[in-house]
Amino acid sequence: MSTNVTVVRNAAWIVAWDDANEQHVYLRDADVAFQGTEIVQVGGHYDGPAAQEIDGRARLILPGLINIHTHPSSEPLRKGLTDETRSPNFWHSSLYEFLPVFAGDREGAIAGIRVAMAELLMSGVTTVADLSIPFDGWLDTLAESGIRAVAAPMFRDARWRVAEGRRIEYDWDEQAGREAFAEAQRVIELARQHPSGRLSGMVCPAQIDTCTPDLIRDAHDYAKERNMPFQIHAAQSVNEFHEMIRRHGVTPIQWLKDIGGLGPHAIIGHAIFLDHHPWLHWTSRNDLAILRDTETTVAHCPTVFMRRGITLQSFGEYRRAGINLGIGTDTYPHNFLEEMRGAGNFARIAMGTVDDLETRDVFEAATTGGARALGRTDIGRLASGCKADFVLVDIKDPSMMPLREPLRSLIFVAADRAVRDVYVDGVCVVKEGRPLNIDLSAASDALEAAQQRSMERVPELDWAGRDAEALSPMVFQTVKQIP
Ligand SMILES: [Zn+2]
Repeated sequence: MSTNVTVVRNAAWIVAWDDANEQHVYLRDADVAFQGTEIVQVGGHYDGPAAQEIDGRARLILPGLINIHTHPSSEPLRKGLTDETRSPNFWHSSLYEFLPVFAGDREGAIAGIRVAMAELLMSGVTTVADLSIPFDGWLDTLAESGIRAVAAPMFRDARWRVAEGRRIEYDWDEQAGREAFAEAQRVIELARQHPSGRLSGMVCPAQIDTCTPDLIRDAHDYAKERNMPFQIHAAQSVNEFHEMIRRHGVTPIQWLKDIGGLGPHAIIGHAIFLDHHPWLHWTSRNDLAILRDTETTVAHCPTVFMRRGITLQSFGEYRRAGINLGIGTDTYPHNFLEEMRGAGNFARIAMGTVDDLETRDVFEAATTGGARALGRTDIGRLASGCKADFVLVDIKDPSMMPLREPLRSLIFVAADRAVRDVYVDGVCVVKEGRPLNIDLSAASDALEAAQQRSMERVPELDWAGRDAEALSPMVFQTVKQIP
């Protein structure tokens, strides 16, 4: 009998899926077997013929992690630029004064995707949702990394324009929005038909305040009809909250519900400024219940907000309200295990108590919560019949030891340092901690060159003509010599 079964033999720890109780559990000293792209056995001893065996005695096996919100074509080149920028007239959101200013080109986008995919894979991510402006070569760049990717081509009707440094003006062009929506549909079809078999699509009107209600409703209908996920940025700044109140007299979340933009297919990035958020001092308390009742998912990306003193209030509160949560890395670093650590830590700080959540809540958001958001039950869990997307962690790495509790060692301390091998669709894409399909050093050089080109264009894009140094001063002055 011919076989292409691979067995990870005698794994010390396995985070396995208990289907009857719908939860992750630990297994000790057991096998994981996969054939082609599919897992065929989790636990016990695999007795069948195996073409290949991997020694699991010093390994923790996890389901591949799921990242439901990234912008890898644009964010990586902002390292060192937008880490701690200030925007006092816009509650320090970086959206309006900085995002349009530190812009990349096509080469920079490709380099950024390569760098981000390498970092995600090395930190255990096997599925990623990429929210990008589509460009020629985008899908192939995602596919060649070896990751499982959900392409989310963004489109919108309006652009932000900062007027006099104190107001956001919206430059509307609905025809351009419709054309971009049509182009997004075409790209999503190309993703679904991609020969890698690892790409799919997500419908993504970019931001609640830059899209007409018709565009959002049509996009959500399009996603529902094709059983695809839908994502929109909403409740992501104080500014946007008040803009929606000014336009419609209701909160961003209430308005999305009113126009038919919420539901089990919908993901809201980032849903921070709901009506209960303390920065708003708003009177109503309806938004959490709306998200729960509509079965909408929240994509939580703590790092990008934490840098500006902003947190979700809070991860545990949303969970207790009954809302499905997934995790994303909106910006660099694309270190998903560190993002998970941040999600737990910031929630506890926000609520002033360790009691806000458990590590299992964060791990579920990073696995089954993300899978649910994407409408899938074949990823984010280790069980027979699921995709062979999994991570092998070295429990003998010093960062994991002493090993009493493997997930705590991994999330609170080791992160990517202990990740050794990562498999997507049964194919090894990270070996001994290094990505096999990405030349990370070459991609990093290309990204640095793209950052240089980007910085040269800053004065022509900034509303006040400032340069990169004025917008983002260096930490220290550079001197010729010490006097
Ligand atoms: Zn985002």
